Amino acid sequence: MAFLVQKFGGTSVGDLDRIRNVAAKVKAARDQGHRIVVVVSAMGGETNRLVDLARSVNPQPLPREMDVLLATGEQVSIALLAIALDTLGCPARSYTGAQVRITTNNAHTKARITNIDKDPIMADLAAGKVVVVAGFQGISDDGNITTLGRGGSDTTAVALASALGADECQIFTDVEGVYTSDPRVVPEARLLNEITHEEMLELASLGAKVLQIRAVEFASKYNVPLRVLSTFVEGEGTHIIPEEQLMEQPLISGVAFNRDEAKITICGVPDKPGIAFSVLGPIAEANIEVDMIVQNVSADDKTDMTFTVHRNDFDTAMTLLEKTARDMDAEEVTGDNRIAKISLVGVGMRSHAGIASKMFETLAAESINIQMISTSEIKISVVVDEKYMELGVRALHAAFGLNESAAQA
Ligand code: ADP
Ligand code: ASP
Ligand code: MG
Repeated sequence: MAFLVQKFGGTSVGDLDRIRNVAAKVKAARDQGHRIVVVVSAMGGETNRLVDLARSVNPQPLPREMDVLLATGEQVSIALLAIALDTLGCPARSYTGAQVRITTNNAHTKARITNIDKDPIMADLAAGKVVVVAGFQGISDDGNITTLGRGGSDTTAVALASALGADECQIFTDVEGVYTSDPRVVPEARLLNEITHEEMLELASLGAKVLQIRAVEFASKYNVPLRVLSTFVEGEGTHIIPEEQLMEQPLISGVAFNRDEAKITICGVPDKPGIAFSVLGPIAEANIEVDMIVQNVSADDKTDMTFTVHRNDFDTAMTLLEKTARDMDAEEVTGDNRIAKISLVGVGMRSHAGIASKMFETLAAESINIQMISTSEIKISVVVDEKYMELGVRALHAAFGLNESAAQA
């Protein structure tokens, strides 16, 4: 008999039949004697629909009102699931984030959980009920509804599992677990039995949206046993574990990619101390996050600097940089928002040389030009033209022996 937090994502509760399917799964687990807290997302597509509604009224809606709006998606699915459970003869109670007192700071649309009041949940569980909690939402100390950022139901689930002391947090989704790359783009991708927290964190940060970054951070920090598995297909799924528990250590665990960034270059800046600050200071002041940065010195004591920002911030960053360029007497500012970032991730990189050169060789063989490179202890990322993203990802996936067929050979 275990104490489980089971989270079901948007596709898993996408229509009434799927909600009934989730109810049957939850009931089956409860009938085996497990205590179950369920976290659900909004029905598939609903959060996007709400975002579009708000943006049609105002392209930059107020964050507080956005949270009031977006939180409705999850409120619908918790109630429907509780009704479906009750219909199957399984007593259940649904709770919004505010009702169950998931308190957060007041950073609307990207709030962080500060506390969870576990008593009401434990009381319901003790009375034999299944507790259904709305993912993605909380309440700030001043009583406002908040949301935790897109994909935030994963974080609700892990935070609840941690606060309640559950035996495991199970993230049920529309694929069988974490794969060596997104199986929708790389059909040859292989299901991983296990992956370390650190690798999962890198994959999530670099574009693999199968788990929200914050959920992985939480699981790692508070030692929450975490597993990703399918709502629709029986299987063991993928365990997210500390590195010490790793059974095998592959060189590369996965290939991640995203099209979320844009690249900006300022050319012909006089090369002297303080240049990086002058260029990037105004960008930081506008709350725009900079990811990769490359600086080159050219022969005539002038320097070029290239950096990437989120695509949503591209226009603002370009305008700010054009002003900086005029103030600094720089030669030119250029931008490109048709780029993609491809990354290799693996703890095995720590002890192996030559991975970067093999990556570059593989891309060269496909005639893919590398525009920027960045590395850390367990990852290498390159920026390429977005039209070569899929080709590059699949070539690297094969070259590093990650294909399903390579594993069986
Ligand atoms: P949910 O609605 O259940 O939260 P998400 O859409 O947020 O589901 O996350 C699951 C999706 O993540 C999959 O459908 C898959 O396309 C995508 N994905 C990206 N990278 C990976 C990966 N490495 N392994 C598994 N899924 C991945
Ligand atoms: N419904 C929210 C979203 O679409 C939260 C989640 O699904 O985790 O981002
Ligand atoms: Mg998700």
